[in-house]
Amino acid sequence: MGKMTGKWCTETYRDTALSFKIKKKLYAKRSKFQMVEVYETEKHGNLMALDGCYMVSTAEEFVYHDMLTHIPMFAHPDPKDVLVIGGGDGGTVREVMRHKGVNSIDFVEIDGDVYTVSKKYFPALVKGLEQDKRVHFKFGDGIKFVKESKNKYDVILIDGTDPSDIAGGLFGTEFFKDVYNALKKDGVMCMQSEDPWYDTGIIKDVQTRLRKVFKQVHLYLAFIPIYPSGMWSFSCASKKYDPRVIRNKKSKIEKFRYYTPELHRAAFALPRFVKDGIK
Ligand code: SAM
Repeated sequence: MGKMTGKWCTETYRDTALSFKIKKKLYAKRSKFQMVEVYETEKHGNLMALDGCYMVSTAEEFVYHDMLTHIPMFAHPDPKDVLVIGGGDGGTVREVMRHKGVNSIDFVEIDGDVYTVSKKYFPALVKGLEQDKRVHFKFGDGIKFVKESKNKYDVILIDGTDPSDIAGGLFGTEFFKDVYNALKKDGVMCMQSEDPWYDTGIIKDVQTRLRKVFKQVHLYLAFIPIYPSGMWSFSCASKKYDPRVIRNKKSKIEKFRYYTPELHRAAFALPRFVKDGIK
């Protein structure tokens, strides 16, 4: 184990501390909703933390944004109307924009400061968002927003923070019922659903609540180097289609940096301890 020398930023979670060597702190300011910090790291580019939790870095962001976006977007045969809740750094919306068949992307982030900070320090994540006429910026609470949307979306992606404070409601049955009603009759939803190494209890609750609302509910994993254990889960639920099957023939399978058609299927293969933990 290397010695801690020079300047580091550290996130502690339960019995884990995850540190990155930094050149300098670029930003630190409390928004209306949370503490927003950005560091320039030695090897991971810029790194954003919200209320002390690492959210996204220049180096690894492609993993999370590919996996949250392209599995549901390729599982639906022809996604035209998409809703992104959260994802203020812009990466998820950027990935949805790559699906040329999409007509409209409603982008509902509660904290405009996150997007403003991302524009300054993570330009690659917001590239093209303001020039793409399909993207509709609607800064506000996604929980309230879905309540007013009925039978409107083919895909809803929930790119929220951890289940507490402003994001707590994004993990609840009421919200899932509203998401269900906001989806069209064959809609697909997908959400980040926390860390299987530390929090199978949270994932089990999410999956149980989703099963009360949706016909098809599945879990898949990806490796996210800036999250406490590195192992991360996504919960994908659908009114009709099995999300493990690629149906979208319109979207080109480009050279995504993480997502591949083989990985689309393989990501749903769960380690035994995760299967048992969410039963
Ligand atoms: N996309 C990041 C990544 O690559 O891992 C992580 C998540 S993103 C920064 C989480 C966003 O969810 C934050 O910008 C936060 O403000 C937003 N958020 C939390 N609760 C929300 C809510 N109820 N409605 C809309 N946005 C919310």
